[in-house]
Amino acid sequence: MKVNLGVRLFISHILVIAVAMTVLVLVTQFALPSAYGRHLGIMEGAIPSETGLGMGSGHTPGQGDPGRTGLFASFRTSFNEALFIAGFIAMVLALIVSMVISRRLAKPIHAMTVASQRISEGHYNERVPPGGGDELGNLAGSFNRMAEKLEQTETMRRQLIGDVSHELRTPLTTIQGSMEGLIDGILPANTDTYEQIHREAGRLTRLVDDLQELSRVEAGGFSLEFKPVSIKAIVDSTYARYSPQFTDKEVKLINLLPDNLPAIMADEDRVEQVLLNLIGNGLQHTPRGGEVTISAEVQDRELFISVADTGIGIPAKHLPHIFDRFYRVDPSRSRQKGGGSGIGLTIALRLVEAHGGHIWAESAGENCGSTFTFTLPLAGE
Ligand code: ADP
Repeated sequence: MKVNLGVRLFISHILVIAVAMTVLVLVTQFALPSAYGRHLGIMEGAIPSETGLGMGSGHTPGQGDPGRTGLFASFRTSFNEALFIAGFIAMVLALIVSMVISRRLAKPIHAMTVASQRISEGHYNERVPPGGGDELGNLAGSFNRMAEKLEQTETMRRQLIGDVSHELRTPLTTIQGSMEGLIDGILPANTDTYEQIHREAGRLTRLVDDLQELSRVEAGGFSLEFKPVSIKAIVDSTYARYSPQFTDKEVKLINLLPDNLPAIMADEDRVEQVLLNLIGNGLQHTPRGGEVTISAEVQDRELFISVADTGIGIPAKHLPHIFDRFYRVDPSRSRQKGGGSGIGLTIALRLVEAHGGHIWAESAGENCGSTFTFTLPLAGE
């Protein structure tokens, strides 16, 4: 049989009360005769015999003098009567107090049980009353924080599924449409058609790769190999990798890094990944004849690395969102130009944060260029 906590607390209180009462009754009954005799003896010593109160010597009641024995019997009866009344009232009051305390103690626990059941059924907005500053209050606080975290995770999960389905739908619809056009003979079976299908398939592959990378960095499922590294070396190698693409598009890539920068404490490959993303974005969003400039400086024991372009810029209302996953300022343009899925900056953000740094974007507005800056800790700090 399952007995709930409130009842158990109540029963334990009753047991404590019963033990106290039993001890009280036994001890008083045992101690009463000798205490009575002793006190009567003291009284007899204090009151002269002419008063008639003195009833002869001898301190033990029930022995010898019948008058004295009768007095003790009536005293005992009245004492027991008073004891019974007091015991009864004490018992009733103690039971009421015990009931109140048991209920108060069991209530928050019961509330947490109900809330955890509701959460397990998918009601993630369930919370319990905060409670006081005691252990139960702390437990309620931890419970609510856990519920909030679960709710956030669930919201993120739902959002991610929605976003991924949405991202997959566009290239899949295009591929399906093109294939149907080919089958029906509406679309010509030429290189253009095949290239379009190939482009969309490539987009799908990139999306899946990005998603895989995103899930790895978001779940913290990557390990960073921190060591003192030279940012100049990383920027130089990234510069070399991108140079041909910049030349092709006739955009200038300028490397302004001085030679005397201190070493940073970082994972070389991950920093290069962040730079590749920022420089790649710069190239993608800067029209022919523009510039992308990489610079760095030490400030407050951190290294600030900036990638600034003279490109299309970012309107102020989009700036706070561009690090959100799947966020693109202009999704249709991004798609037409073979742009990414809006995950690159999210990955960059997570990687920079994993280094203990920050990343942010600035832009004076449309067609005024953009500057992305991230910070990394210096080695030996
Ligand atoms: P994507 O893979 O689509 O490039 P990102 O997460 O790297 O995704 O970038 C998100 C969005 O931020 C881009 O779609 C683009 O609209 C905007 N953006 C990023 N970098 C720049 C830039 N240098 N200039 C203008 N807009 C940019």
